[in-house]
Amino acid sequence: MINEPKIVEITDIITETPTIKTFKFDWDFKTLGMPNPGEFLMVWNFNNEKPMSISQINDNELAITVKNIGEFTSQLHNLEAGDQIGVRGSYGNGFNTDFENKRIIAIGGGVGMAPINAIATYLAENNEVEAISAAQTENELLFVDSLEEMGVAVHPCTDDGSFGFEGFATDCLSGLLEDRTYDYAFVCGPEIMMKGIFNILEASNIPGQYSLERYMKCALGVCGQCCVDSEGWRICVEGPVFEENKIKQITEFGKYRRDASGVKY
Ligand SMILES: Cc1cc2nc3c(=O)[nH]c(=O)nc-3n(C[C@H](O)[C@H](O)[C@H](O)COP(=O)(O)OP(=O)(O)OC[C@H]3O[C@@H](n4cnc5c(N)ncnc54)[C@H](O)[C@@H]3O)c2cc1C
Repeated sequence: MINEPKIVEITDIITETPTIKTFKFDWDFKTLGMPNPGEFLMVWNFNNEKPMSISQINDNELAITVKNIGEFTSQLHNLEAGDQIGVRGSYGNGFNTDFENKRIIAIGGGVGMAPINAIATYLAENNEVEAISAAQTENELLFVDSLEEMGVAVHPCTDDGSFGFEGFATDCLSGLLEDRTYDYAFVCGPEIMMKGIFNILEASNIPGQYSLERYMKCALGVCGQCCVDSEGWRICVEGPVFEENKIKQITEFGKYRRDASGVKY
């Protein structure tokens, strides 16, 4: 892990959807560390610095997948291959990857598919992996074809029914559970979606891990910005990934979070 930004050159940019781009860069695993799926990086564009999940872990290459929603992310979207960014990390408690010969369901909503892509790809080698890739509409769906190519059975799911299952990821999961079950689940997306998925999986006795987001500043566990009620766990150190027994102890899960000045909303 490196705690000061390493300046890297963007080697490739893939336009995934009208609002989401993937940025690839070289990362020497020997000197900079080999990240685990579910960990995140602090990305610096020489102006501001924000957390981004690792979406792909290739041979000495990493990728982040970024949704353009504000000032920082639109600045990233304006970059071109050959431009530089600063990257520090990787940080956080990533997904537990110790699974073999299991039936896995990996569920991602919107850009929450970024860490789900990394874990589903990783586990597909030794497990039977299915994924729900959920988005509002067809052209916002992420990683459907590339995951299929890796041997993952993908269930695309759109709110407006423009592609795949019509409805929310929760409805799609409930439908799948009518004729099958899973040993384990991995979940990332809007928290309201994760809360709904949590309730369904708990009722079906399916354990899982959930990747949370909170406003983050240092990512080093020092500033306390990303602490959650009521245990005070830091999303940047004890998280972003939590198992279901810990999720139950996060009393704010699915209810509220804090803005940059610590005010609840
Ligand atoms: C662990 C973690 C992993 C993430 N992974 C991804 C990812 O893979 N892809 C992706 O597109 N986004 C990811 N995000 C969210 C990403 O950090 C925000 O979308 C980004 O910071 C928004 O910046 P902005 O200036 O464009 O938008 P703003 O207009 O500043 O903010 C828009 C929204 O982004 C949130 N946000 C802003 N700054 C931060 C911050 N410092 N920390 C956390 N949230 C912030 C705000 O709460 C707000 O809801 C992740 C966040 C966390 C905490």
